[in-house]
This record gives sequence, C-alpha cells and structure tokens, in this order.
Amino acid sequence: MPMTEIRNAQAAAAPVLQVDGLKKHFPIRKGLLRRTIGNVFAVDGVSFSIQPGETLGLVGESGCGKTTVGRTVLRLIEPTGGSIRVRGEDITQLSRKALRPYRREMQIVFQDPFSSLNPRMRAGDIVGEPMKIHGIGAEGGERARLVARLFERVGLRPQQMRNFPHEFSGGQRQRISIARALALNPKLIVADEPVSALDVSIQAQVINLMMDLQREEGIAYLFISHNLAVVEHISHRIAVMYLGRIVEYADKVTLFTRPQHPYTEALLSAVPVPDPLLKREKRMVEGDVPSPVRPPPGCHFHTRCPYAQDRCRIETPALKPVGEGHLVACHLR
Ligand code: SF4
Repeated sequence: MPMTEIRNAQAAAAPVLQVDGLKKHFPIRKGLLRRTIGNVFAVDGVSFSIQPGETLGLVGESGCGKTTVGRTVLRLIEPTGGSIRVRGEDITQLSRKALRPYRREMQIVFQDPFSSLNPRMRAGDIVGEPMKIHGIGAEGGERARLVARLFERVGLRPQQMRNFPHEFSGGQRQRISIARALALNPKLIVADEPVSALDVSIQAQVINLMMDLQREEGIAYLFISHNLAVVEHISHRIAVMYLGRIVEYADKVTLFTRPQHPYTEALLSAVPVPDPLLKREKRMVEGDVPSPVRPPPGCHFHTRCPYAQDRCRIETPALKPVGEGHLVACHLR
C-alpha cells in the first residue's frame, strides 16, 4: 500500500482527539519581581480520547478544571505537560502557523451567548467571520450564501443575518454561536457549558440541535457541564472530574446505572429520576471543592468522602479498569 494511503487509513482509524497525561498548572506570582510562589493545579494528568461522531461528557463541580481542559486541548491556553493528538497528529508543540489547519477542525461554543457575540456586529458577519479569516467564499455573494445555509441549518431564518445580537433571544444567540462554530466544517466542537445560561425549556432545543448536527455531519463533541442531567442526554461516554483529575470514566449507561466512585454517586444522587420507584439514595457531598492551589494529598476527594480511610490521605488512587471501558480512581474498587 502506498505511504499516503497508509497515512490516510491510520488517520481514519485514529480518534479525533486523544489527550494523554494533560497538565495545566498556572503559576501564582507575587511582588515587584513577580516571583512564582506556587501553582494552581488546574489540570493534573488527564487522559481521554474522542472518536469521530462521538460525544464525551466532561462533568464536575465548578473549579474542577473542566473548562481549562477544554481550552487547553484547543491550545487556547498552553499545556504544562502531556500530549494532545488530533487524528493521530501530535499538536502539543506545533507553532501557531503549523497549528492553523487543526484550528479549523476544532471549534468552541462558549457558555454565555450574551458576552461571546460581538454586540456591534450583525449576526451574518459573526457567522461569516471564520470563513473570512480562512479565505473561504468570495466576500458578499458566495460567502453570504454559505452563511444563509448555516442559519437555516441551526433553525434561524436567513433574513435574520442582518440583525444584531441584542435582537435575538438567549437560545437564538446560542444557535448563532453554533452556526459560527460550524462555519469551517469542524471535526470536533468543544462545547463549554453551552446551555447553562439558558432557560430549562430552551436547553433541550439546543441540545437536540447539536445531536441532529452530529447525526448529519459526524461531528464529535467534548461536552463540558457541571450538570449530569444535561450531559446524560447528549453523551455517549462520560468522564467525571474532581480537582484536576478524572475520577471515573465510563459509557453513559454504565455510569448512570453502576457508578463506582463515591463522588460520581454523590453527583448522581442530585439528578432527578422520572420513576419514583427508582429513586436514588441521597448522598450529598458536604462542603466545597478544596482549593486547587493546595489540593489535599492522596485522593483529592478524601476531605469530603464518607468512606475515606487512612490510606486515602496518603496514596493517590490510580485510574484503573473495573469493567469494559470503565475506569475508576478509588482505593476501594
Ligand atoms: Fe473515598 Fe478513599 Fe475512594 Fe478517595 S480513594 S474516593 S477517599 S474511598
């Protein structure tokens, strides 16, 4: 087989995104000389992969590092360690110029559709901007047609291209954000709490739109949320994060029916169940997430875990398999 065909075959089999041992430590600086006096261990050795057309849900409380993971895999912020592979190619150290073709393939949708859209730009120009930057479609004619198609794909009318962001509802603004993310035919979209700022009644509409687009285009999503109920609907697999580390990783059904980590159990107990007979035992986690500046030693969760033992305060539990594709970081499993 010629070398180019071998490479193409490898690329077809490779995950859209493969992350290994990803770390992001933010230095804390002080004084006139800005000396480093410590670090915020925002992401501390995170590994996962996402296949084409798949959604990986990344869940955890606010401050657990999930947003930093999303931005680091896109190299919007630079990793401290680990590697990021896009369709098998290591992009961790690529220069900005060499990174450009990969940037086209990986887009982001932010949480707040009110602040993520430029209020002075017309909606059509916002959606067409990535095409302009990457030289796609002639100004006016062809690009305007492409933008109009994108508006229709996300459930907006092409006539609305002339409107400004303030003339749209929250749900419609998030549709504009999604259309902008789709403009360059991405293989992966990092969706960072994309429905958290929306009314509950609108959340399902936006999630259903994202699922339709995935079915039509084979787009993969890294879907970041603090809310397991939201993630349940859209995800194929789910990674649960706590203080910079993944503590449990499983397909959706396994995670919801047979959670193994005490933190996942606690998060799940807060998710409403439609059938009262299936009511889950309430296991609320006490207290707040500790500071990522000085994370507790051993298992980071030991300060809030009802099952913590002496060993948990000293030894870091490895993320190990407990079933097919099911990984858990807990000494008791
Ligand atoms: Fe709880 Fe120990 Fe398991 Fe951590 S390792 S989740 S503290 S039982």
